[in-house]
Amino acid sequence: MRSRALVLPVQGATAAQLSDTYTQARAGGAAHEALDIMAPRGTPVLAVEEGRVAKLFLSKSGGITLYQFDPDRHYAYYYAHLDSYADGVAEGANLRKGQVIGYVGSTGNASPDAPHLHFAIFRLGPERQWWRGTPLNPYLVWRDARP
Ligand SMILES: [Zn+2]
Repeated sequence: MRSRALVLPVQGATAAQLSDTYTQARAGGAAHEALDIMAPRGTPVLAVEEGRVAKLFLSKSGGITLYQFDPDRHYAYYYAHLDSYADGVAEGANLRKGQVIGYVGSTGNASPDAPHLHFAIFRLGPERQWWRGTPLNPYLVWRDARP
């Protein structure tokens, strides 16, 4: 993955509190292929870097979700189970690194008792389709920042 540093997408979260759940099985037997960051409902969710909002999407499993492309449109960042979007967040909008894009929640198939951000990274194909790419383990992005 690139060397450009990404900020943690949950305000107040630290690399030390992350755990690698990328290969865990999830409903339907599919691998998780994402990072879950537990946080109280309403905690601000931050854009990991600058880039454009590719899609705001409501899905059965992910609930209220946001897909962001990086500035070069090589990668997509996926934020799910949001409680709501932040004001001014719309498809096509340019995001600043660290900008509040929404709030932690438990929409979709997350347990109401365990609000968290489900965060995924995938490498886009040549078609730059927000719904299709090759997943990468987000945990590895911040692993080296651990004490
Ligand atoms: Zn998850």
